[in-house]
Amino acid sequence: MSYWAFFHNKVLERQEVREDFADTDWDCKDFDTRLQAQYPLKVHAPRCVRKRAEYTRELIHTCFWYYKLLLHSSSPFEVKETPNFGLGLFLKDQERVKKGGLLQPEMLLGLLFDVGEAEANALHKLGYPSIYGTCVMTGPVALMNHQCHAPLFFTKPTLSSHIEEFQQVRCIRVKAKLNACTIPTQGELVADYFGRTKLSGNFKCQCIRCTK
Ligand SMILES: [Zn+2]
Repeated sequence: MSYWAFFHNKVLERQEVREDFADTDWDCKDFDTRLQAQYPLKVHAPRCVRKRAEYTRELIHTCFWYYKLLLHSSSPFEVKETPNFGLGLFLKDQERVKKGGLLQPEMLLGLLFDVGEAEANALHKLGYPSIYGTCVMTGPVALMNHQCHAPLFFTKPTLSSHIEEFQQVRCIRVKAKLNACTIPTQGELVADYFGRTKLSGNFKCQCIRCTK
């Protein structure tokens, strides 16, 4: 979880760094070199990580995995600023999703780390964007913004059996609603967070549809 926060704050949110890392085809060693040139981990890594060399290796390994999913030249995604909602997730090429089908099921993952109700509420109050129930979400799905009536929604958490390093971590994927849909090239991936459930009375949605 702190590895995602590190990658998000230091790489994705810093435009120059993000653009420098995007569309490259580094292997883990290249990535390590570039990351450490930008942020010597002895200074910049979270304090709990700096304590042990194996944690630093784990940080690099995990951040490399996120880099492969989101910034590597082979990734189907792009991470860009949106006009109103900070970072958003975009598809490089047009993609068609079948009725009820999963979109990029090997790549478009949201990993869930249970932090308990009190911590989740506290983070929610601080405006942390990726809270799912009592969990903090990491990975590509955490970058997807909400839009009412979007043709995509999130699946319920299941055990991930696809990603070796993240086995036993609960995750969600992204599914098309009842109708098939096409996401255009350069289209932002947005999901209807609330599906068919009615929004509570005092929730004021700020999505593009609702503020148009
Ligand atoms: Zn809305």
